[in-house]
Amino acid sequence: MTLLTAPITVRDLEQALADSARAGELGADLVEFRIDTFTDDPKAVTELVQLSALPCIITCRPTWEGGAYDGDEQTRIAALEHAGMGARKPVYIDLELAAYQKSANLRQKVGLVVDDPDRPRQVDTGLILSSHDFQQRPSDLLRKIKDMADAPRCRVIKVAWQARSLRDNLEAFELIGQQVKPTIALCMGEFGLASRVLAKKFGALLTFASLDEDSGTAPGQPTLREIKNLYRWDAVDALTRVFGVIGFPVGHSMSPPTHNAGFDATDTNSVYLPMPIPPEYEHFKATVSSWLASPALHFGGASVTIPHKENLLKFVKEQGPRGEVEELAERIGAANTLAVRDDGSLYACNTDYAAALDAVCDGLSIAREGLEGKRVAVIGAGGAARAVVAGFAHYGADVTIYNRTADRAQELADQFGAKAAPLNDLSTCEADVYINCTPIGMHPNIDASPIPGDTLPVGIGPGTVVFDTIYNPVETKLLSLAKAAGCVTIPGTEMFVRQAAAQFKLWTGKDAPLGIFRDVLAEHLKAHGE
Ligand code: NAP
Repeated sequence: MTLLTAPITVRDLEQALADSARAGELGADLVEFRIDTFTDDPKAVTELVQLSALPCIITCRPTWEGGAYDGDEQTRIAALEHAGMGARKPVYIDLELAAYQKSANLRQKVGLVVDDPDRPRQVDTGLILSSHDFQQRPSDLLRKIKDMADAPRCRVIKVAWQARSLRDNLEAFELIGQQVKPTIALCMGEFGLASRVLAKKFGALLTFASLDEDSGTAPGQPTLREIKNLYRWDAVDALTRVFGVIGFPVGHSMSPPTHNAGFDATDTNSVYLPMPIPPEYEHFKATVSSWLASPALHFGGASVTIPHKENLLKFVKEQGPRGEVEELAERIGAANTLAVRDDGSLYACNTDYAAALDAVCDGLSIAREGLEGKRVAVIGAGGAARAVVAGFAHYGADVTIYNRTADRAQELADQFGAKAAPLNDLSTCEADVYINCTPIGMHPNIDASPIPGDTLPVGIGPGTVVFDTIYNPVETKLLSLAKAAGCVTIPGTEMFVRQAAAQFKLWTGKDAPLGIFRDVLAEHLKAHGE
């Protein structure tokens, strides 16, 4: 069992005990009391251990190892000794390997408080020997781990280092599996979340999750709410499949809450994480290759967003017969979905165009085949427009691209057999479907509309479908004008939900719970949108 552990910075007894009780309510199994600045009255440390709602680890981390304790070693030792003086003992005392190796006095004193295989007595408290590097993976990491493993009194090995890429997580997982003693191996920073969330999958002794966003004790620590509710802590086991969203940055992506809610609702043994990878192809290739090469990870695929959509195509094509690219994704020149098939081969496709097609077909109450001959006005000629134009042209629609930069519209039109026109012509155009693929009208410029003069094209009215790919705000100026004119309106949230649903189906073989996807997205936009 991997213990969900809440770190608590102790400021005073009352606060620390209240925090421990709250950690229990939020689902933690254990708390780590950080007594770095709570050493003045050692008896209070004894009391803390007695009264804590949850079993505890006691840690007094010095400044030289990233903590806040800057006093002398005698005072620190006295506080740790007092931790073990009551009837109820801490489950663990955490000490830095460097301090333990350096000071015979510390070893001797701490040896009286913790379990010692060389001494015939029963002590409930185990010793965690730990090492932290807030800059990088230490070059002597393996030697440190060996020293911890060789120290007879050390019951638990703990290493934590600043991850430089997602690949570091894989080493953390390997280290957990290789040790003869219970191990904690965590990566810090934005690249290290997987090591924390998947600690349970790999059988680590514990992982840390903070009470609140600002009460963590290491960079990259999720909160208890996030790890339990968003990252499916209770459902994760050794066989859990891992998915994610690859992008840079991906911190505010709506995909993790969406897909994880889908896994919850369909009882699917999977978890979905943000996967930040720096923009260059070399980073993409090295990271994705390493995740694919780790069988115990059960990496099942990813959503791929800016700036990696082209990188995904290139990567899958480089796999030769072990990689397949969807034909239309190849023509669009961008893929947003990676699926790892059961035989390990890769499939890349683009669910953006399919999402736009299905959203509009629902609006028109027709099947995709019914798009043949329908007049579709696409506004914009960037990445989103490209997927939309490719999709509609593929099904025989009569597509006209209206764009600010005429050359760009013409180039896109030529590639997919569409027509190009200046943006100003939009007000006089007549079409069955209008699709905005520009950011005009997006927060904070919510009073703007892509149609010049804030009016609607002359041909718009009941029965016309107006689709805005913008999802913040959900109802843009364009959509509110169109709604007032009796059009069928489709917000950009539908495109997001449907591209995610197509990915979900591809990865799990199950229909995505569309209603839940919509609810999660609405909630996310309410919490994070402006
Ligand atoms: P992009 O590649 O940068 O293209 C932007 C397009 O908008 C270009 O054609 C550009 O015209 C035009 N444009 C930008 N500002 C303009 C202005 N002030 N006046 C006239 N035209 C302007 O961006 P993208 O990736 O295609 O994304 C476009 C929008 O699509 C985003 O803002 C987003 O809201 C939406 N989107 C939604 C989803 C979804 O899931 N709902 C997914 C992807 C994108 P020029 O060629 O003249 O520069």
